Amino acid sequence: MITVTSPLLPDLDEFYGMLKEIWNSKYITNNGSFHKQLEKELASYLKVPYVSLFTNGTLPLITALQALRVTGEVITTPYSFVATTHALWWNGIKPVFVDVDLKTGNLDPDKIEAAITPKTTAIMPVHVYGKPCDTKKIQEIADRYGLKVIYDAAHAFGVEVNGESVLNAGDMSTLSFHATKVYNTIEGGAMVMHDEKTKQRIDYLKNFGFAGETTVVGPGINSKMDEVRAAYGILNLRQVDESIAARREVAVAYRNALRSVDGVSFFDDMPGVKHNYSYFPIFIDERKYGMSRDDLYMKMREAKVLGRRYFYPLISEFSTYRGLESADPNNLPNAHKMANTVICLPMHHTLSKEDINRVLDQIVK
Ligand SMILES: *Cc1c(COP(=O)(O)O)cnc(C)c1O
Repeated sequence: MITVTSPLLPDLDEFYGMLKEIWNSKYITNNGSFHKQLEKELASYLKVPYVSLFTNGTLPLITALQALRVTGEVITTPYSFVATTHALWWNGIKPVFVDVDLKTGNLDPDKIEAAITPKTTAIMPVHVYGKPCDTKKIQEIADRYGLKVIYDAAHAFGVEVNGESVLNAGDMSTLSFHATKVYNTIEGGAMVMHDEKTKQRIDYLKNFGFAGETTVVGPGINSKMDEVRAAYGILNLRQVDESIAARREVAVAYRNALRSVDGVSFFDDMPGVKHNYSYFPIFIDERKYGMSRDDLYMKMREAKVLGRRYFYPLISEFSTYRGLESADPNNLPNAHKMANTVICLPMHHTLSKEDINRVLDQIVK
């Protein structure tokens, strides 16, 4: 069985050494020394000023909206993992879906303005598959209309544009360190912010709003990362570059073999961008390829090559959201086109040459 992903795991003996330290200290959560160390190391690795660790990648989204007091309507993309829109729902905010750009799969900045109403308070884009959004254009619109920008950067760990982290865009960015992501802490996540005061406020909010033993500054939640997963994260950070390099080799092999296949398209690297090769989506043009996306997907499954149809169905098609005016498929033609033609090929650091060939054998005719 070739799976779509495989978790990056730390060396077990090294992890055991760190577990012993935790056991000896009896300090197992609440901003312990490994938690502090991982926040520092991540800020430095990611080239961002401040990082706050979370227990998963959904809670920093929910907390960012709380911290910035976002209300009313928020413009977002339907072409993402459901958590993006769920974070709005959990804050009582109405999602307004805007179509994506076919060249990147990201929110099309040229379509944002038409969706702004007097109730709009923020834009929540996603760097889908780790491909950076047009952050400059999005910020210009946000500045013109006085909107906040929160990036769901769950896919964009380590992604840089012209040497700068894409995580520095907007008011805040959030990351997921779930087992399926490029960098994982089993379950985990983080928020990236620009200044110390915001970091302080977020650190309060992720610990029930406690600012000291007897002071609660707001209706916070409990979304802190514990020492065990912080230790795991410290070890994984040391090998993530190697893992991304291995993924890059897989992407190069896929591209070389698929470039000449009629009816199969994929993304190339973007100029000036340091990619993380988190996903390898291909898009099937049924007429040219001679087989539908779903037939190819099933054929791959039968050969024990497990691709995934990320992101099908679109978030706007789920029962919670499909009644919204902006969820009308006529409003989202590009997102529907991508959702109906995509297969994410197996992409991880342990794929061998034989594995890659087995995947390609299913697609190249
Ligand atoms: C994985 C993911 C999340 C949620 O992260 P969890 O750590 O699983 O809570 C949010 N948004 C996107 C785009 C994701 O891919």
